[in-house]
Amino acid sequence: MDYYTVSGIIEKNDMRMWMVNPELMCSKHLLGEHVELHMLAGCLQRGKNIDGFLKGGLVDPSLLHVRHEALVREMEKRGYQHRSPIENCDYPLIKGDVDVQANVVELSSRCEDCRALFDEAGRTHVDSI
Ligand SMILES: [Zn+2]
Ligand SMILES: [Zn+2]
Repeated sequence: MDYYTVSGIIEKNDMRMWMVNPELMCSKHLLGEHVELHMLAGCLQRGKNIDGFLKGGLVDPSLLHVRHEALVREMEKRGYQHRSPIENCDYPLIKGDVDVQANVVELSSRCEDCRALFDEAGRTHVDSI
């Protein structure tokens, strides 16, 4: 199963909530995380085991909906259309533990565009939903 985005194919096991301030993410990472939120919702709805993602600090299902709203708001500000609501769901939204500061460091090393936005904003403003 492949997931296509404007940036290409996202590996199916690369499911990650960055939880970095959406305003400070480049569009590639903004849209990428959005797709991954839908993947996470799909996994939860199908009752898939996501322990590995939880243990790895990659996702926080308890923030799935609020994070989705935040990303969509920023996507719409940038002119992207959004037609993929995450349905209200009856699965338990387990609390995860995502280290936002570590993700800022990770994104900075992976992506010049994100790094430029972080540097411009100053490191203290990067970690809001
Ligand atoms: Zn969506
Ligand atoms: Zn980026």
